[in-house]
Amino acid sequence: MTYRIWTAILFVTTAFLSWQSGGWAGFRLVEQEGIEESFRYSQLVANELKRYSPIPELMAEHPLMQQTLEFPSSDNLILLANEEMKSMATIVGSSDVYLMDAAGLTIAASNYDRESSFIGRNFDFRPYFYEALNTGRSSLYFALGTTSDLRGLYFSHPIRGQDGLVLGVIAVKVQVDELELQWQRPAKFNEAEMVVLDGDGISFLASKERWLYRNFEPGSGEPPVDIRIRQRYPSRTLTAMDIKDLGHPLGSSEKSRRIRILDEGVSREYLSILTPLPKLDWSLQVMISIRSVFWTQVRFLIAGLVIFLGCFQTWLYLRERYRREAELAERGEQLERRVTERTADLEASNRQLVDQIQQREKAQNELKETQRELIQAAKLAVLGQMSAGLNHEMNQPLTAIQTYARNSRRFLERGDTATVDANLGEITSLCNKMAELTRQFKVFARKSEGPPSSVDLRLAVDAALKIITAQDNSEAIRFEWPRPATPVMCHGDLIRVEQVLVNLIANAMQAVEEVDNPVIRIEVTESAQCWSCLVRDNGSGLPSDTEQIFEPFFTTKSMKQGLGLGLSISRQIVDALGGRLTGRNRRDGPGADFVLMLNKRGTVE
Ligand code: ADP
Repeated sequence: MTYRIWTAILFVTTAFLSWQSGGWAGFRLVEQEGIEESFRYSQLVANELKRYSPIPELMAEHPLMQQTLEFPSSDNLILLANEEMKSMATIVGSSDVYLMDAAGLTIAASNYDRESSFIGRNFDFRPYFYEALNTGRSSLYFALGTTSDLRGLYFSHPIRGQDGLVLGVIAVKVQVDELELQWQRPAKFNEAEMVVLDGDGISFLASKERWLYRNFEPGSGEPPVDIRIRQRYPSRTLTAMDIKDLGHPLGSSEKSRRIRILDEGVSREYLSILTPLPKLDWSLQVMISIRSVFWTQVRFLIAGLVIFLGCFQTWLYLRERYRREAELAERGEQLERRVTERTADLEASNRQLVDQIQQREKAQNELKETQRELIQAAKLAVLGQMSAGLNHEMNQPLTAIQTYARNSRRFLERGDTATVDANLGEITSLCNKMAELTRQFKVFARKSEGPPSSVDLRLAVDAALKIITAQDNSEAIRFEWPRPATPVMCHGDLIRVEQVLVNLIANAMQAVEEVDNPVIRIEVTESAQCWSCLVRDNGSGLPSDTEQIFEPFFTTKSMKQGLGLGLSISRQIVDALGGRLTGRNRRDGPGADFVLMLNKRGTVE
């Protein structure tokens, strides 16, 4: 709001100052023109005076003039004087030259042969006559010719006799119309008027004819009544001009004045410059129309307003730019602040993530460790479950070894060494069998370390079957194992694959416990990328939800028989090896099918 008020104030001030400056400049230009014109016309007038003023003096020196005055009755002398003056008038381009005696009577004249001749006329009332006569010096006067009614400049000089007394006066009259003709100023822009005023302020030269013989004294109102003046301009009314002095305008010098002239009902304003002319008490008044001042003011006003608008636009632009820059800087700062905040947030969440990742890694490591422990525990659990069966398996050969050893002693006492040797062979064979069995259990109980590599699936099945069949309850079961002739190489680890197979076969054995003709079949089949090992039984079959059996601690058995971890751990082992373990009920009869798929190399698709 405030800036609008300020803009309005500045606008008005600019307009006012522009208008004033325009006036100032306009008046200065007009005055300059007036001064130039004044100078030109005063020079013109001065030149004219200079041209004619020495002529009467020169003529006065002529002896003929003196003689004519001394002998005015001599017709011969008068004629000679007339002729002389006529030729002189022609030479100098003056209108009339004439000779007056001491009484003012014209005795000879250049126009002696014309009707309007001056001869015989008395001019003793004319100042140029009596001034020359009385002062004895040249005189100059302006007046309207009494005879011709033409404006003339009168140059006069006294003529002295031998004794030095003034005998008469010679006068030269010059018409002034020519001067006015030189006042034309066609190329000038401003309308201008000129008048030459005599000492009483009466115009006797004017650029406008109407303005001739007018009183230019401002505010005089009435024509002058002075008889002396009236004689100079006989038969002229000398009406006063309607002039109003408007004072001294701003921007012009002291000698310029602003005036308003009401002429023929039209009012016009001028800048008037009054210049005194040399020699006489005349003055030249140049009046230049001030109409151009108005247009100068308009131009200044327009220029001022254009500059104001330009400055205003620039100011608006700069203000907007500054505002935008400030806004951008503010936004930039905000952005930076936000980025800093976000960065701090990100760093915090990064730290959190790193912490979480570390915790996760730690948890995973712990989990892996736990799994390893769990697998080991499960293996030991399997071993524990098998220990009852193993007792029988171990006791049988031990009893046999005992029997063979006892018999051998007897046969040794008898000297039957051949039988002793045969018995010792049996004992060795039984010991080997027991050693093989314990080796299998030792391998099974070992913790598996290291990454998976290549394993022959046939060997894993062999080892698992050995462990399983070591139990006494396995005797009633028929194991079908069509062992492939060539190695079945899979991506895996012997101990871990063996553990999975032990689990699967052990479960199958438990499932067929109540069955009449129990059969467990292990079969290996090949596909494009992997080997599949099927463990099939004809037992009780799986509970309806087959996926549930892979969940930890899911069991349908008593605490003594199972923990519900076998299948869960087996699946984890197979997943870790990149294989797959699935279980479902048989389509062709009672019992379950478990399929262990192992990749030939890498992950099973
Ligand atoms: P556990 O044998 O200790 O119960 P497992 O994870 O090995 O634990 O087996 C989970 C359950 O899956 C068993 O309790 C049983 O009900 C079922 N199961 C596993 N294998 C067979 C199979 N061959 N026939 C029938 N049921 C089976």
